[in-house]
Amino acid sequence: MFDIQEIRSQFSILDREVNGKPLVYLDNAATSQKPNSVLEVCHAYYTELNANVHRGIHTLSQLATEEMELSRRKIQKFINAKHDFEVIFTKGTTEGLNLIAYILTQKVQKDDEIIISYLEHHSNIVPWQLLCERTGAKLRVIPIDENGILQMDYFDQFLSEKTKVVSVNQVSNALGIVNPIEEIIAKTRKNTDAYIVIDGAQSAPHFHIDVQKMDCDFFVFSGHKMYAPMGTGILYGKREILEVLPPFHGGGEMIATCSFEETTYAGLPFKYEAGTPNVGGNIALGAAVDFMNKVGHQAIQSHENALLEYAQRQLLEIEGLKVYGEKAHRTGVVSFNLEGVGISSDVGMILDKMGIAVRTGHHCTQPIMNFFNIAGTVRASFAIYNTFEEIDLLVEGVKKAQRMLG
Ligand SMILES: *Cc1c(COP(=O)(O)O)cnc(C)c1O
Repeated sequence: MFDIQEIRSQFSILDREVNGKPLVYLDNAATSQKPNSVLEVCHAYYTELNANVHRGIHTLSQLATEEMELSRRKIQKFINAKHDFEVIFTKGTTEGLNLIAYILTQKVQKDDEIIISYLEHHSNIVPWQLLCERTGAKLRVIPIDENGILQMDYFDQFLSEKTKVVSVNQVSNALGIVNPIEEIIAKTRKNTDAYIVIDGAQSAPHFHIDVQKMDCDFFVFSGHKMYAPMGTGILYGKREILEVLPPFHGGGEMIATCSFEETTYAGLPFKYEAGTPNVGGNIALGAAVDFMNKVGHQAIQSHENALLEYAQRQLLEIEGLKVYGEKAHRTGVVSFNLEGVGISSDVGMILDKMGIAVRTGHHCTQPIMNFFNIAGTVRASFAIYNTFEEIDLLVEGVKKAQRMLG
């Protein structure tokens, strides 16, 4: 077992008060807090190392380059990519998904099909709609049942030689539902030659990720949801695929030679990293991976699952409270509403007065809200530093909100 107080002591922000109450931070699915080790790496970068990477002969440029490439190798190990150059630095999941949808343009034709699911974040919907607009392809959406579970018989029917891309999240940010991506990947491979894209924004912070075992073609996630700074993220892509697909952004860093007649592209990963990267942030993402490795995936998962169980059990005891999504298939998130309270933000505002940070609204997943015929939910989401006492405070706060709004 790990020492929760020791973990909490690594996050200075958790000592602050909000509205005169100790902060209870339960908005981790939107962004996690950052441990001091990560903040120190950011500070040290700008006080000791700052220089542009890859093009400098001078010492600082070389040191900064080495640190960023070391971070890339840490992330390679973290997701078990076969090669370090399969790890592309981005500014987050949104950029990763847009990049993939863009570079696949030539591979998709009129009347081809892209399969996504009802549980996707807008950033795994809109880039594919844009691809469909460019190409005339069609979007097919795996429906969910009333428990928020994907209806896989529809997926089976959708799969055909027209399927060119299957893009789903591993964990839903709105409901915390863990999707059967093993089954989705296996069936896609068996029946099609479609590209398989996994949105790992809500799984990378919680699960051990092994992209080789998973056998996806692309895996994307955000650093800021797993203890790293904002503006960091990763796109993993298989070597054979990235090597032949065209670049996304053009600019510095991504060329081998450039003339007005002809430009040739740099090899991986630089072909996909045009312009000056977020060097300090990318190095700090490596420090966030160190932090997670030190705590250990086992500890992260068992603590977060215990928190979820505990929260779920207590919340469900509140009469007139509805939790969305099948409880056996969830991780890290509990999404709920109070009967008779039309606006989830009213609950959020009362909780905020008590120092409790939760998210309310549609969570960038309007199709899910439409499915349940609601405008939004109250969402509490957990990280390694949350405690059972904080859940008690949440439950107390929700009961208070119910009394005030009911
Ligand atoms: C947060 C999130 C995104 C978007 O990530 P950004 O960091 O905002 O780019 C995409 N998908 C899921 C499942 C998310 O939770």
